[in-house]
Amino acid sequence: MRLFYNCPVYKYGYGNEGGLAVLCKDGIIASIGKTEDYDGIDCPSTDLRGSFLAPAFIESHCHFLGCADKRLSVDLSGSTDLEEVKKRILRAAAAPVKIVRAVNFENNMCESLDEAALEIDRDFSDVPVMVANTSGHGGFINKYARKKYGVESNKTYLVEKEFTDAQSKLPMPLFEDLLCAARKTEKDFLSRAITTVQEGYIERSTMNICLKLYDALDTSLDIIGYISPFDFDDPEENEKIFSGYLCRGRKRESGFRIGGYKIIIDGSPQMRTAYMSRDYAGGGRGILSLSPEKIDFAVRRAVSEGRQLLAHCNGDAAADEFISSAERAAAKGADISALRFVIIHGFMLTAELMERASRLGMMVSFFPEHIERFSDVHIANLGIERAGSMAPAATAIKKGLRCTFHTDAPVTPPDLMRAVFCACARLGKNNSVIGADERISVEEAFAGICENAAFQYFQEGLKGTVSPGALSRFAVLDRNPFTCSQSEIPDIKVSYADA
Ligand SMILES: [Zn+2]
Repeated sequence: MRLFYNCPVYKYGYGNEGGLAVLCKDGIIASIGKTEDYDGIDCPSTDLRGSFLAPAFIESHCHFLGCADKRLSVDLSGSTDLEEVKKRILRAAAAPVKIVRAVNFENNMCESLDEAALEIDRDFSDVPVMVANTSGHGGFINKYARKKYGVESNKTYLVEKEFTDAQSKLPMPLFEDLLCAARKTEKDFLSRAITTVQEGYIERSTMNICLKLYDALDTSLDIIGYISPFDFDDPEENEKIFSGYLCRGRKRESGFRIGGYKIIIDGSPQMRTAYMSRDYAGGGRGILSLSPEKIDFAVRRAVSEGRQLLAHCNGDAAADEFISSAERAAAKGADISALRFVIIHGFMLTAELMERASRLGMMVSFFPEHIERFSDVHIANLGIERAGSMAPAATAIKKGLRCTFHTDAPVTPPDLMRAVFCACARLGKNNSVIGADERISVEEAFAGICENAAFQYFQEGLKGTVSPGALSRFAVLDRNPFTCSQSEIPDIKVSYADA
């Protein structure tokens, strides 16, 4: 048993100045009451001195392995020109590595990506180099690396599937290094009180490394992986994957398991590869990465096996393809709401699309930090009015579409308090509000990293709430986010506690 006392508690009256106590037993919350009701109880106890007790946070979309991998790469963030990028790569190339991998390249730092590609080829003619841009949806693989590792494309700058296919040919970091980085990543998530994490897209080529890693990691996080429905097509193997033989170190609240399928229908808005129903400024509607037939195949497969399906859709036309496919399945009797299909990102969802998704009982997981990070690019690509309706959380809530909020780590750091702030404030780069009508309340934003996120993982009641029967894993906040001013939210210090 363990008692936490002298704290306000999530959803137990936000004005409460701290007189509550939570008693935990065997990893579960046993009861909640006033601190004085527990006077004289004989068990270890923690005085929270007015800190706010929330349930441990839930990341509704990210890539754990990608976060670990990023720690082993050259970080290009903060570099504003190609000279600085090349300097950082050159520094890393001094060590004997199979390939220099650099991440967080900002595409808009150079006038022409083709010219940048030529420069990288020329300046690194005997060093293999891979540079991924911030979204991870594209990057450079220099001529030397392509030749050395058998990448067929003769272009240096690659996007979407071409880029991921090419990356799969490049050497992985040493396993020991990856494991060490994974331990640091695990610590990072826990220090931010995030205990539920996603392995957001697993292809055949990465499954073995995932399993080896999670076997060795024996994690205390709950990591839920989503596999490609096109890669794992042996029904017998599939049954094993889902029934648990791949669930490493699995206890009730920690370990690795497969939660369902994931498909990627389009690209990203900042690279103008999100698939849109209307042109970007300057033309083009983006890329549809999967044919409607393939989307139907994935939906049919998820429905026939009774699995959850997550679909990366940024553009409205991409989301339309996914929703239409789910509607076709529903017309034949499928219960989509029971499978909790999730639109991942839903960057340009329209009111009409959200109404249709809501009718089917689908969910959407938004990426609010996009507003802050890439607002200038979005405004340039879409104009201020369309950019204002990106990640339209307020309309989603109005339409009854259950929504969650994610960081897509490693695209942005796994800071869910930042996601909450961005969803509420919607501040762009120069602190101007982008899409004022889509701002939501702190309560609504918290639901997206607590109870709605638990619902997304079919774990409502067990997670996302501080109530009897839920796991005793907590986020301890040094201020009450529901009573402090909104501008203080990013400064709230979060720590993790459990019992
Ligand atoms: Zn992602």
